[in-house]
Parts: sequence; C-alpha cells; structure tokens
Amino acid sequence: MSGRVLVVALDGADFRLLRPWMDDGTLPHLAALARDGAHGPLRSVVPPLTPPAWASFATGKRPGRHNVFGFTHPGTARETPEPVNASAIEGATLWDYLREFGIPAAVVGVPMTYPPTPVPGALISSFMTPPGRRDFVHPVELLDEIEARFGPYPLYLDTPVFSVNRSAANVRSFLGVLEHEAEVKFRVAAWLADRFDARFVMLHIWGTDRVQHELWNLLDESHPRHNGRLAARVRGEIVGYFRGVDRRIGELRQALGDGVTTFVVSDHGFGPVHTLIDLNWWLAQEGFIRFRRGLATRLRRLAWRCGLTASTLTRLRVAAERFITLRRKDGAPSEMVRTAQRRTRRLVLSFRDVDWDRTTAYSPPGLSIGSIMLNRRDHGPGADYDAVRARLVERLGAFARELIGPHAAKHIYTGDALYGADSVGRAPDVLFLPLEEGYLPTNLFDFIDNRPAVPNRVWPGNHRMDGVLIAHGPGVRAGLRLDGAEIVDVAPTLLHLLGCAVASDMDGRPLTELVEAGSARERPVQACEPAQPYLGGRADLTDAERDEIIARLRSLGYI
Ligand SMILES: [Zn+2]
Repeated sequence: MSGRVLVVALDGADFRLLRPWMDDGTLPHLAALARDGAHGPLRSVVPPLTPPAWASFATGKRPGRHNVFGFTHPGTARETPEPVNASAIEGATLWDYLREFGIPAAVVGVPMTYPPTPVPGALISSFMTPPGRRDFVHPVELLDEIEARFGPYPLYLDTPVFSVNRSAANVRSFLGVLEHEAEVKFRVAAWLADRFDARFVMLHIWGTDRVQHELWNLLDESHPRHNGRLAARVRGEIVGYFRGVDRRIGELRQALGDGVTTFVVSDHGFGPVHTLIDLNWWLAQEGFIRFRRGLATRLRRLAWRCGLTASTLTRLRVAAERFITLRRKDGAPSEMVRTAQRRTRRLVLSFRDVDWDRTTAYSPPGLSIGSIMLNRRDHGPGADYDAVRARLVERLGAFARELIGPHAAKHIYTGDALYGADSVGRAPDVLFLPLEEGYLPTNLFDFIDNRPAVPNRVWPGNHRMDGVLIAHGPGVRAGLRLDGAEIVDVAPTLLHLLGCAVASDMDGRPLTELVEAGSARERPVQACEPAQPYLGGRADLTDAERDEIIARLRSLGYI
C-alpha cells in the first residue's frame, strides 16, 4: 500500500550526537533520510520535558493551552503529587483527528496516551500507565496476542538509574533492556501496520532518552565525569545501540512498502550537565521557603547543615548499588537498597518540614527542571503575589549572574509571559532554565544539598530545547535545511500530508515549505473546526495506583 506516513519518535534525539554518526556512515538510514529529505532542529516547549512536549506534539498547542507542564499537576505537587496522563490534556489530539478523519492507524508507545484513544486501528499507550493495568492497549484484547507473538511488552524500562556507568557489565545489561524495547516496538509496529492496513504508523523509542541521561559522559570526552577507561570498553556498544535503532528504521520502512513518508522526531534535545541547582534549598536560603519550628525539623536542619543531605544519601546508595550490582550479572538495583533508601529519606530534610503557611514559593517535585510555583494558599492573587514574584525574579537573576555569568538572567521566564495571563495558578509562575550552559535546576528529593549549586553526580546528560526533525518521502523536498520548526508544527504538518484539514485552534502550522513545488502533495492548507476530544477513557486512578506511579517516577529520577 502506498501513501503511508511513518513517524519514528526518538525520545531526546539530538543532532549534536547523531550528526557525526550520520556523517561517518554509522547511521546510514538516518543519513539517507536527511540527505534525500528535509531536516533541521525541532524546537521543544518550555519546560522541555517528556509530558508537556509529547502533549504539544499531539495537540499542536503549547503547554499554556494543553495544560500539561511536567510529570505532575502543578496545583497538587506540593504535598501529594498527582501524576499526569492523557486525561490531563485539554482539547483534541492527533489521535482524535485520526478518529475524526477515519484514518487507520498503528500507534506504539507514545507518551501521554494513557488511557488510549480508540483510533481506527490500534494504539498502545506508554509508561505513565498504572502498573498492573492491561487497558493500555486499544483494542484491549490485542494485548494477549501481542504477548503471545512478541513476549512481554516493554511498557516500563526497569533499569538501574544514576549508577549504570560503573562497570562494563552494568552498561551492557542496561543497553540490553533498551535494545529489547526497540526490538519489540519496531516489530509490533510493523505487525500492527500490516494487520490494520494502517495509513498512519508511529512508534516511540524511550531508550534514546535513557541512554543519554545515563551514559552521556562516556560519549563526551569533555564531560567532567568522563571515564576514559570505561568508555574505551563500552563506547562501541553504546554506539551499537544507536546503530540498531537506525537499522530497524530501515527495516520498518521497507516493510511498510514503497511510497512511505517518514518523519523522525524528538521531543527535546540533549546535552551534558555538570552542575545541579537545588532550587528549593536556594528558595529556603532566600526566605521564600520557611521551616516548621518543631524539634524534629530543627534536628533535621542541623543534620542537613552538617552534611546529612539527600545528596549524601544518594552517594551512599550509589556506592551500595555499585557494591551489589558489581556482583550481579543483571545489574538490577537491589530491593534491599531501595528499602534502605526509603527508610533513610525520613532522616533528611524534606517538604514535611516546610511551614506552608509562611512559605511563599517552592519548586514542586514532579514538575522538575526549573519550575517554581508561588504558594497561593495565603499569598495571592493580587498585589502580594505580584510583589513576591517580582522579588523572586530579581533574586533569581542575581543568583544566576553570580553563578553562571552576566548574561544568565535571560534563562529566567515568567509563567504569564510564556503561557498567558489565564495560566496563573495552574502553571509554573517562574522558570529558570540555564540548560544550554550545562546547569540543571532540579528538585529531586525536595531538597538536595546544603549548597544551592552542586557538582552533578546523578545524570551526566539532560534535556535541551532543540530536538530533531527529519522528513522524507514522495513530495518532500530533498536537501532542505529546515529552520525554525517547532514541535507544535508536527501534528498540523502530518494531518496536512495525510490529506486532512488542520484545526484552526492549533498553535503550530503545517510546514508547507517541506512540500516539493508541483508535486502531487502540493495543495492549499484546509482549515477545520477542532475535533471533539475523546473523553470516554478518562482515567480515575486509585490512591494505590497514583502512589505506584509516583514511586516509579521517583525511582527513575524524574521527580
Ligand atoms: Zn529525559
């Protein structure tokens, strides 16, 4: 069948890593797609995180419009984080338009698709599914058949985090899990495309993000944590993982037949991280966060100042894991270490010690990467709120200039400027994102360290604003260097190339400059009314499911 559209989503893919391998023949399929098609950076959203970025991909709208800003809902993140899923997305998604226009589809593993929208064809959701649920596949009865044919479906990638690059054996077992994900997802996508005669085929690979988070320092000789000896042993295997993904892209394109239009996209880019910024500790130092006055809190504050911090405990945990995993072939983190970690968390300063009545601003776990919320319970909206935010931006600017350099205040954003005045109260109020400079403002463990900026000992790599876009196929201009494409442009572009009208309420636009003049694909963009979002699957999580998702996100280091 001709006229198919394939989207290969490589989470976190970045040309700074891929380009040299495309040029030297390591990734021949991606190189050929870029050479014979169009390619360029794909601008992510602020903040460049998986949930808001994939929600923007699906809706063609920026976070202020679709209302997803991180892994949890901002309004609930302070005490009991509420994980987001597709139910959190405001408005229609690409999946709703596939339904509306009756386009047979095979969609595999795209984040923020649980609960699944019943597209014509099949849709397999992703890792924000509550553990144990089997309704992440539409149609639900398909899961038994997928498992019978392909074995257990890799919904979650249960791999060690923060301690992977300690030994060659750890790296290998980690890469094995990621390779299995790619293997199964590419095979399932090809099988579903055939089975449902899909015109739209999409799969998402999570491993490309995970491998860069964990192993960036082994690929980057200038990284402060570069380990030359280990890199010499495993570099070929890390590159081999990317080569495997590239090879499978070629195989899937062949399986889909002649005339397939291929998009390769990522939700954000990647780069090295050398310094963590502990936003909550900084907020506490500046008086925005205030602590309770009880004895237990006083003791934890004292211990914290003396060095009993989450950062210290993580170092101990990593050392313990290293000790254990060096003796275990599979490299899996030990349950004993996890239990010890849960228990020791009670010893260190956390949000339980915060006096929320006197606290004016905090960085909610789960929104992660540089997000700050004003505490409106007793401080807003109105003049008080404006004054707190103005002081926060001013103090943060001084901190940024002192830590990074005179230009660094440009990395500070305000929520109303980014997301619109009506976003106040449901979106981050202030964001600090000096990612491009190798700094990661974060809030793993509520508070991290007793200094506001600490050398990064966790993930050697993290997100950047510019991901990748490669487009190739009949009617797509060859050799075009795209400039200025944004992730919100992808859904309208795909709908336009599928011959559909594009909803007038999307922030993005069809990238018509991709289309070859005079080709059969050249036609005016047609506008339509927004589709009715499918609400039938709205997921109500039980408390236990919510806790399990939060625990899983924590164990991944995402919140
Ligand atoms: Zn990531």
